Amino acid sequence: GTTFQPGDVLDLSVDQMEALLKATSTGEGSKVLDNALFAHAESVSDRFFGKDVYYRGIVEFSNVCENDCGYCGIRKHQRRARRYTMPREEVVEVAEWAFKHRMGTLMLQSGELNTPQRMAYLEDVVKSVKERTIALDLEERAENPEARRPADATGLGLCVALSVGELPREQFAQLRAAGADRYLLRIESSNPELYASIHPPAQKWENRVRCLRDLKDLGFMIGTGVMVGLPGQTLRDLAGDVMFFRDLGADMIGMGPYITEAGTPVADMWEAEFGHLDKKKHMMDMLTLTTRMNALARVTLGNVNIAATTALQAIDAVGREVALRRGANVLMPILTPTKYREHYTLYEGKPCITDTAEECQKCLNARLSMVDKRLKPGVWGDPPSYRDRL
Ligand code: SAM
Repeated sequence: GTTFQPGDVLDLSVDQMEALLKATSTGEGSKVLDNALFAHAESVSDRFFGKDVYYRGIVEFSNVCENDCGYCGIRKHQRRARRYTMPREEVVEVAEWAFKHRMGTLMLQSGELNTPQRMAYLEDVVKSVKERTIALDLEERAENPEARRPADATGLGLCVALSVGELPREQFAQLRAAGADRYLLRIESSNPELYASIHPPAQKWENRVRCLRDLKDLGFMIGTGVMVGLPGQTLRDLAGDVMFFRDLGADMIGMGPYITEAGTPVADMWEAEFGHLDKKKHMMDMLTLTTRMNALARVTLGNVNIAATTALQAIDAVGREVALRRGANVLMPILTPTKYREHYTLYEGKPCITDTAEECQKCLNARLSMVDKRLKPGVWGDPPSYRDRL
């Protein structure tokens, strides 16, 4: 019999999660259990967020990278047409656009580069985005003093989230001092052996964990996540991933299906393991498995922010919308200026690379109403888990 109510957060063990993933992925009656999992995830989302979806505009400001992650299309050794870094002013223009379109949060993402020049650039960009959007915010308020801020708007201007990879603690501290509020760094897999199999020996799992702990300690809201469907990955690994998020106390989760990119070592590993399968069907299965992982994260972690990631849409036109009914509550429209988009291809079939930010915005609004959700405009959309921690 059922011993829990809609909206209840469940304290599942790693064994229970693995069993649930197994039962839903294989065998008889899996559809019924799958639907029950998804429905419960939606009830927990509804309890904490209602129909609200938060937006984070992403700017992929540079594809220059000194790391060699075995799966990634912008890894150092991937032969590419062109490496770019957006001038600071262009990033700030995108930030102003995002603020005016009530995005609340701007996420700055790039390849990894640990140089004094890059640090100076990052600090400068973060400070400028903050200054300019705070100024815009104050102007708006002066012009329209009656306009009430939503009760859960967190701060002035835009919230700034960084996704720029591993750095020493001191540099995280500098970025925090410059005004960055959040940091996203996926653990990629909570299993150190699996992690080692998809990264070069110099890139250590332990250092990722160290980064996440430092970031949290420094007062960032932290986001992490994994890729689903990696070669060598088991359902036990995935169950362990959700435990990892819980033990870390992550505020935000971003999970996406692993998608092959030609010319990368992990694509060859994938080919050896899955090459005999019907690729389209297999990728649809991985999409469903990713949404199952989102649902598991929602029912076990409760009030964290969970992103419906771009990679879901690369597999299916409505992949992200489906995810929003299965535990996710965050959408991340890409705001990168069109001329740079084709150079930030992490994997094959990355969507929207010819679109403008305006087009993305319109498209997403329509998509949200399709799944009976609505944009919560003008708020940072802090995860309630973070507010609880303060
Ligand atoms: N360099 C930063 C980092 O690694 O945190 C930020 C940029 S990195 C390109 C962002 C994320 O893209 C990674 O965390 C990884 O999970 C995802 N990614 C890279 N290659 C991918 C692929 N082939 N399929 C799916 N996701 C991929």
